[in-house]
Amino acid sequence: MSFADMTNLSKDLRQKLGENFTLPALSTDATQFSSDGTIKSRFKTHDGHLIEGVLIPTTSRFTACVSSQIGCSLSCKFCATGYIDRKRNLEFDEIYDQVALINQQSEKTKGKKLSNIVFMGMGEPLLNYKNVLKSIERITSPDGMAMSPKRITVSTAGVAKGIRQLGDDKVKFKLALSLHAATDKKRHEIMPINDTNNIKSLIDALNYFYKQTGTQVTFEYILFKDFNDSPDDADELIKIYRQVPADLVNIIEYNPIDFARFQKPEEAKVEAFMEYLGKHRVNARLRRSRGKDIDAACGQLANKEIS
Ligand code: SF4
Repeated sequence: MSFADMTNLSKDLRQKLGENFTLPALSTDATQFSSDGTIKSRFKTHDGHLIEGVLIPTTSRFTACVSSQIGCSLSCKFCATGYIDRKRNLEFDEIYDQVALINQQSEKTKGKKLSNIVFMGMGEPLLNYKNVLKSIERITSPDGMAMSPKRITVSTAGVAKGIRQLGDDKVKFKLALSLHAATDKKRHEIMPINDTNNIKSLIDALNYFYKQTGTQVTFEYILFKDFNDSPDDADELIKIYRQVPADLVNIIEYNPIDFARFQKPEEAKVEAFMEYLGKHRVNARLRRSRGKDIDAACGQLANKEIS
């Protein structure tokens, strides 16, 4: 909706309003509060679509996890969003408003501004390249939120061409690759995008990104019970880690969703996996789930009914 659409107002007034004001691109439709302090918001776009964004507070950080598309076309098997068809890309101002609204929420409920932003919500950011970059330009500009680009991470399921484009554009923000399986055979089973963007092409693209930007990348690796949690799997992961200038591997606790076959490994297996990586000098960190009681954790965003 724009002022021009408000035909119940006079033409003069519509024109004046359009020259002097902007309408918010999004409105908050519902909010849910987790017992761990995480807050999930559902936002409504001007054309009635719903997307979700999450505020994740810790003792030292206030992070917004934001969406870049309405639905997602990549159909990762473990992700609730992957079961929703992609409707359209979010416009840059819709992404920016999402961040601004979560920032307001952070100030109001936690008394702190956002310290970090991750593009890990609904959608594949590199398939909405222009809008994501334009939103980051605004977030980092003095007229926007003046946030340092080093506090922003774009996470991709593995679009090699987009990773190379980020290198060519010499971006200053951080990049994470959602690897989740360290052989093509296993990755193909859970992430169909691997059929057109195999691990070798991603390693090459990440090296190109590093050469162009000087920024090390982060790997994301969700542990799935009896699928990618053995020492052999850790060895494959280590092989990839050694071929890419990477500063960190985030090992993420899996949050089961209704329609996927995966489970979370037992605690002892998680600890053994972490220990194995540590022994091989991999800088790995275990990320515990946040907001799982409200379906706000990694891979759970699906516009489920919010009461
Ligand atoms: S994990 Fe990301 S890329 Fe994969 S289906 Fe979910 S939102 Fe899309």
